[in-house]
Amino acid sequence: CQKCLSLIKKTKFLNAYITISEEVALKQAEESEKRYKKGHSLGALDGIPVAVKDNFSTSGIETTCASNMLKGYVPPYNATVVQRLLDQGAVLMGKTNLDEFAMGSGSTDGVFGPVKNPWSYSKQYREKRKQKSHGENEDSNWLITGGSSGGSAAAVSAFTCFAALGSDTGGSTRNPAAHCGIVGFKPSYGLVSRHGLIPLVNSMDVPGILTRCVDDAATVLGVLAGHDPKDSTTIQDPGKPFMLSSLTDVSKLCIGIPKEYLVPELSSEVRSFWSKAANLFESEGAKVIEVSLPHTSYSIVCYHVLCTSEVASNMARFDGLEYGHRCDIDVSTEAMYAATRREGFNDVVRGRILAGNFFLLKENYANYFIKAQKVRRLIANDFVNVFNSGVDVLLTPTTLSEAVPYLEFIKEDNRTRSAQDDIFTQAVNMAGLPAVSVPVALSNQGLPVGLQFIGRAFCDQQLLTVAKWFE
Ligand code: GLN
Repeated sequence: CQKCLSLIKKTKFLNAYITISEEVALKQAEESEKRYKKGHSLGALDGIPVAVKDNFSTSGIETTCASNMLKGYVPPYNATVVQRLLDQGAVLMGKTNLDEFAMGSGSTDGVFGPVKNPWSYSKQYREKRKQKSHGENEDSNWLITGGSSGGSAAAVSAFTCFAALGSDTGGSTRNPAAHCGIVGFKPSYGLVSRHGLIPLVNSMDVPGILTRCVDDAATVLGVLAGHDPKDSTTIQDPGKPFMLSSLTDVSKLCIGIPKEYLVPELSSEVRSFWSKAANLFESEGAKVIEVSLPHTSYSIVCYHVLCTSEVASNMARFDGLEYGHRCDIDVSTEAMYAATRREGFNDVVRGRILAGNFFLLKENYANYFIKAQKVRRLIANDFVNVFNSGVDVLLTPTTLSEAVPYLEFIKEDNRTRSAQDDIFTQAVNMAGLPAVSVPVALSNQGLPVGLQFIGRAFCDQQLLTVAKWFE
């Protein structure tokens, strides 16, 4: 715990943490040590430093969603997942940085500033950059972590904790994991409680797990998974425990390669790692087949309509009355609402609220919201059909390319940008499936690239077993 705390301080420039809960962590670590010395029974995560994305409620610890709206808000309770970590003896190092309200795919849009990718400072990358840029100012070349759980990914990747919670609505756990060279796991929807996760899109949000290896992700899943009376979408029987056996023979596996995922924007390097991975499975005896997910091209637009509609509804709670920021205008309640929300939200959040309210207007509802829900069903059925045809897991890229420099990333309008970045990850959330990003290799630039495995709903254990074989 002390080593992790000192690393957190050393790597402060990464901006991975919004709050460092040093006192809490030291106290928890001390209690854990006492349990150990007294020979008491230990929890599955006893004494293990973990970090939590700052959109999970933590009792007595500020929870901001990286937004002016919630700055200073201290929840009176723990999210169920946080409580389960603590109940198993985990040591909470702090709350990690994100895009405001988890809207984004760069971790660049939070009110506390962008998160820097630890790989920006790796020897290999710096040497390559120097060669390419002929000595141009190195610090301006730092890379984004991806997002929106970029703080959690950077925290694990920089060894400041062993596991971190992220959230995953359209890829926010898998995307930064791929860019930071770690494992990012999105469990099946309904396997892990969302109670206390400040919602983005309730019908797609899932707590995500970021770790350095697949086994660690399985251990944390074992702690988190299970019914929660406070989240009626959690299933009764999670099929515990999540102990991964070592798969030695993949010859009975059928791996599907979705042909629609071979998009023109995919970098040639990621493409080549993807096909090498498929070849590896094939050479070990697995059946590798091309499959079709025909509605893939509608996924981004469909996600946009559903996401913004749920956002418009969710964000209504931030009215300056119950919690968080309140503007001191007192002409009328309406004027107070409006000014509070203008000051509290950034332009990404406000843009989504506007778009969502537009889709939900009486005259637009059937044409946009209802239609998008129907398309969502078609997208989900594509996966069902593929799995029913005998495919065990799908193998895809996680991101279009390796992490890009911050200055390049912010050139594009941040309201359209995250859409393209999530092309391989969003459909999974609309279908509620489990998926995991696993680091595969380093690119020519010396940066990590991840590949994604997608599994059948509630076959999280099988999915992680295949990912473990591959890692
Ligand atoms: N990038 C997507 C969005 O901005 C997904 C975010 C997420 O998974 N939290 O909506």
